[in-house]
Amino acid sequence: MTPEQFLERARAEISDDPKTRLTLLAKTMMEQPDCLIDIHTHIFDKKCLSVGYILLRMAKALGLKALGIEAVETEVDRMELLSKDEPEIYDDIAAKEEDTDEDWALLEKELEKTIDIHETYELFGFNVKDGYKVLRKKNMMEILDFYHEEFSITKLPAFTNHKMVLGILQMDLETGWDFKPKRGFRQQVREIKEISKTRAILPYFAVDPRRAEKNGPDENLYELFLEAFTDKDNPFFGVKCYPALGYLPSDVRLDPIFQICAEKNIPVLTHCGGEAVSTFEKKIMVKNETGYVQFEIPGDTRDLRARYLNEPHNWEPVLKKYNNLKLNLGHFGGGSTWKEYVKDGSSARLDKIFELMRNPNYRVWGDFSYSIIEDDLFDLFKQVLDVNDDILKQSLYGTDFWVVLPAGDLLKKQEIFLDKLKDYHDPLLRSNVLDYLLK
Ligand SMILES: [Zn+2]
Repeated sequence: MTPEQFLERARAEISDDPKTRLTLLAKTMMEQPDCLIDIHTHIFDKKCLSVGYILLRMAKALGLKALGIEAVETEVDRMELLSKDEPEIYDDIAAKEEDTDEDWALLEKELEKTIDIHETYELFGFNVKDGYKVLRKKNMMEILDFYHEEFSITKLPAFTNHKMVLGILQMDLETGWDFKPKRGFRQQVREIKEISKTRAILPYFAVDPRRAEKNGPDENLYELFLEAFTDKDNPFFGVKCYPALGYLPSDVRLDPIFQICAEKNIPVLTHCGGEAVSTFEKKIMVKNETGYVQFEIPGDTRDLRARYLNEPHNWEPVLKKYNNLKLNLGHFGGGSTWKEYVKDGSSARLDKIFELMRNPNYRVWGDFSYSIIEDDLFDLFKQVLDVNDDILKQSLYGTDFWVVLPAGDLLKKQEIFLDKLKDYHDPLLRSNVLDYLLK
């Protein structure tokens, strides 16, 4: 499908009123004055992912080798997957097109062993167990229900009886890592639509410019987008970007998507934080107005290259072109950015985020997802919101469930966060989010 054909159909078939894209269930809930919104969650199950993804997500939480307990070190050395360091995991991902059942079985076995070690040596602070529980869930719906059963703030006394609606963000590893997950991307879209029939969710469709080159309804970016957004009863609601998987938001293959998002009031959410998951390529092909150019991603390490791709300044050309585009910078730059801000008194990335949020020509928000686990930052968040009314108005609540689970006790940390920021429950969990979603 050409960009012109896409624009023509999208303009004719997609409404410019975001409310029409809410399922009846989500709409009914959001109309209630006590309804809360966690805008940043993930329910992808192992059929959408690769073994490498899980290892990268768990890697930081495992940290077993660094413990200096000899018995543990020997144990870890014997493990095939969990003894790998990050570059080795990335090499594996690059070399592999598919994971076998045996790969998954081995991963599960080693994670069980890790849980044993954590329990034997009473290592608290990390939470491999809950991450592991997610892997054992049968499907995306079960993972979503796991949120409501164990991690929703409606479990806390201050929020019992509140309704809760979740932004559900997809991830397109199939294109990003050129990897074949068990469940193809189109099937993933369809299953999320099914879930939205019985659960109040706001599904976010993952975009990747490289999909524009693929053909047919199973693979092509524009065809898949139309399938997701033109569904009469259960359409998708927003668009998710993850540039660190190997693209720039300014790639012109995404122009038709952002054009429609701006015209039709479709909110966009981009990853703008942690660097654990990214492309392993050093050079990427970018398409600009004149054609394809090879772009060498600045940075000497994978981490730095991922950081470059995630930089908020990469969004400036997009925002300049599409002033009306609603953009949420997920993770608010990431915890390390805020730590840098505390240590050095400034941070280039955070300064850029604030600049974009304050620009009266743009519509830019930031969400606290993942940082919700970093309680050493909560005082700083409060200080910033206390004195910057303009930033407060565009700040959103989010958890980054389930990706954040291995990093700590999600419900407990949310309680601490919400207690610290008790003056701002309504803006963060409701009124600001409604502005971002529906205005
Ligand atoms: Zn996320």
